Amino acid sequence: MNITIDPPPVASALSFVQRSTSSAWATYLSQIDRVTPYLGKLAPLAETLRRPKRALIVDVPIERDDGSFAHFEGYRVQHSLSRGPGKGGVRFHPNVSLEEVMALAGWMTIKNAAINLPFGGAKGGVRIEPRLYSKKELERVTRRYTSEIGVIIGPQQDIAAPDVNTDAQVMAWMMDTYDMNTGLASTGVVTGKPIHLGGSLGRKKATGRGVFVMGCETMRRLGMPLEGARVAVQGFGNVGSVAAELFAAAGAKVVAVQDVDATVFNASGLDVVALAADARAQGEIAGFSGGEAITREAFWEVGCDVLIPAAMEGAIDAARAKKIAARLILEGANGPTLPEADDVFAARGIVVVPDVLCNAGGVTVSYFEWVQDFASFFWTEEQINARLAKIILDALDHVWRKAEELKLPLRTAAFVVACERVLIAHVERGLYP
Ligand code: GLU
Repeated sequence: MNITIDPPPVASALSFVQRSTSSAWATYLSQIDRVTPYLGKLAPLAETLRRPKRALIVDVPIERDDGSFAHFEGYRVQHSLSRGPGKGGVRFHPNVSLEEVMALAGWMTIKNAAINLPFGGAKGGVRIEPRLYSKKELERVTRRYTSEIGVIIGPQQDIAAPDVNTDAQVMAWMMDTYDMNTGLASTGVVTGKPIHLGGSLGRKKATGRGVFVMGCETMRRLGMPLEGARVAVQGFGNVGSVAAELFAAAGAKVVAVQDVDATVFNASGLDVVALAADARAQGEIAGFSGGEAITREAFWEVGCDVLIPAAMEGAIDAARAKKIAARLILEGANGPTLPEADDVFAARGIVVVPDVLCNAGGVTVSYFEWVQDFASFFWTEEQINARLAKIILDALDHVWRKAEELKLPLRTAAFVVACERVLIAHVERGLYP
């Protein structure tokens, strides 16, 4: 019998508190280190933020289309449930590991608290290169993974959503599997579902829209004109492509776009609508005729005013931070900037709107979807977009004022606001037993 283990296993965290030198989890822990001195009486409790509440590792075996078997490793981490049920996406990617999912779950705790959504933080993932598997195989991976994590998820326990390489279809399979296993007809166990299955209008574009809304407001505050502003976007998936289209439609010039395979540049502005159509048709931007192909590294030196990293964590190290020409960084991805790059940006006076604010539009509309599912009463897209803008701009304003008061970069200020909220909830609940 042919059994494949693909991609091969990687060394994972042996314990929650083990700190490897360069990983998303190390970045997260260093961000917690940086905020701790500003937490006053709550500072000794920050240890709880350094330890996920619960982490589940599952084997995901499937029968392949050719009759052979394959195994994958899957994870669901509930970092904190102090402020409400766990909430966070599920990603399919060959680099998924326990440490990565721990970091992403930690960032969800901070994000949900910074925006003041009534959720804790969670994240899931399967280590798989989805491009190598058929749709039917991915359905089997999704269903078996959902079944295995079924013991800890649920509409009042932990709610999943799309993330890298997962979409509304994957959420439909997750919901159906959960409902089959529980005998319930509950829609609120996942968000980002298809509209016909209880999904919310505006959810698909919400993360990219949030980046745009946050970007416009920050530019206004910094006195940067939107008209003609040069924007560079790394990552052209659901976040980067939507943000690029909204910026272009508002009069900005998207001068460079990078996806997994290629980088295209046009100093007088790319036709983003045509580029997105190409990307949808071919699954990549390589070969786009409306721009010049440049090297991957040259992307970071492109003349631009706004840079949107909207791909993966760890994209910007100190060396890249020194080259970047932008005055404003809008983090569409989770964890794209390493702590030493944050220091370079701070020294150079470059403003970073951190992931936990900048890409929170997605989980904010996930919250709306969850609320609509419970009420079985659905809102219009106008209502959703207006409520989205109000909630995230209020959060930005709150963090901005905290940053001015404490003379901190926006990231640390967002962590101060969020960690205070999480730790106060932690204290009010008390320790059991
Ligand atoms: N995966 C998205 C994020 O990282 C959305 C999470 C959600 O909607 O729960 O924020």
